[in-house]
Amino acid sequence: MASNQSPAKNLEIHDEKVLGWARDLLDQCSSPRMMQQEVINAVERNALWRGEECLNLLAPEAPTSPTVRKLLASEVGTRAAEGHIGPTERWFAGTKYIDEIEALCVELLKRVFQCNYADHRLVASMLGNMTVYAAMTNPGDHVMTIAQPFGGHSSNRIDGPAGIRGLQIHDVPMDPVELEVDLDQFAEAARRIKPRLVTLGASMTLFPFPLKEMAEIVSEWGGRIFFDGAHQLGLIGGGQFQDPLREGACVITGSAGKTFSGPQSGIILWNDPELAKPITDAIFPALAATHQVNRVAALAAAAAEFLAYGNDYMAQIVTNAQALGKALADRGVPVLGSHKGFTRTHQIILDVRAYGGGLKVAQELAKANIITNKNLIPCDRPEDWDYPSGLRIGTTEVTRLGMKEAEMETVANLIVSVLEGKEEPEETRKQVIEMRRGYQKIHYCFD
Ligand SMILES: *Cc1c(COP(=O)(O)O)cnc(C)c1O
Repeated sequence: MASNQSPAKNLEIHDEKVLGWARDLLDQCSSPRMMQQEVINAVERNALWRGEECLNLLAPEAPTSPTVRKLLASEVGTRAAEGHIGPTERWFAGTKYIDEIEALCVELLKRVFQCNYADHRLVASMLGNMTVYAAMTNPGDHVMTIAQPFGGHSSNRIDGPAGIRGLQIHDVPMDPVELEVDLDQFAEAARRIKPRLVTLGASMTLFPFPLKEMAEIVSEWGGRIFFDGAHQLGLIGGGQFQDPLREGACVITGSAGKTFSGPQSGIILWNDPELAKPITDAIFPALAATHQVNRVAALAAAAAEFLAYGNDYMAQIVTNAQALGKALADRGVPVLGSHKGFTRTHQIILDVRAYGGGLKVAQELAKANIITNKNLIPCDRPEDWDYPSGLRIGTTEVTRLGMKEAEMETVANLIVSVLEGKEEPEETRKQVIEMRRGYQKIHYCFD
């Protein structure tokens, strides 16, 4: 190395302090067995804190049932299966029972979502979206998707699968007050751009989309609607949101670990037989090879729970979100969409500029064991992206723990004490732990 150069330093994207902490800890271990124990200890610290002592209000999370968790650790998770279901469709022998598990999963998903086709193999919805773009577009095609300040997700933008596919990405025009698609502006822009695909669904979704009207517009040039239902998957299956496949979307992707409350997975649903080959070819052999059959088994079990309890569970999630939105607004907190009932989903969005912004508020709430996330809202400009103005709250987990409208008043009080700084977060934390003590059991399942 030339003497005037500083010593080579690895470019590390992860936080250097946290990696340094791990290196020090491993250095102090006298054996690999102790190193393994440190991993287990960290998992247990999380299980105690997040699992038993927190109000988990992160919108993308959901607690799974004991049966689903048990299946995630099952023997079949050590088996190799790739390809499609059936003896001649596989490379490996010995998949007789694996075929049964997978077929049960696919058929259960079709029952829950009342559709002709379902795929179960992808580990995440990111790959579901990549599958749709691979199957339904060519590089250079024009698509319209929702920008992040209106709730759009990176998977449909330039920095995600849509960008990797080399698509020309245009914004779906949104109304910043109504938090819905601006249909007039959409009609004008879409007729000019003539996108091959329009992607709806978002990470911040409060209200339904004018799907029928949009599908009619894009049909003028043979364009189609793709519904990224990552967040709303459960609400759709439980009949508590719009029904995209029947309103004009040709394909839905979803994250099974969000409102659907199964293991983290990507799901794809569609009805059109002409999509079966392009979608399935993009899944295998392009984006999945050995898929996790333990996860597939857990997904099938979650789908069965959903058939029994999905409607009641999802309805209560929405009721709780509306109750929490109202309780917070009653206490003077600005809640988006307050002029139209706050939300029709599991989410509410707060404008927390008056309390120091989304990052600071989310960090203060976490000190009080209330877990949320900072979120972009329509007023945010690109330079604000690390310090957005909003806070996103979801009611999936508290609902599955058995909370109802009355408890949302208590949750609102706890949030407001942190927002207003009337007491130290440490004090609120004690009350949160006390409250959580009464809500440890998972509801809406057979266990
Ligand atoms: C969460 C999310 C995704 C990605 O889903 P994963 O299952 O986490 O990969 C895609 N689209 C939207 C709108 C999301 O909110």
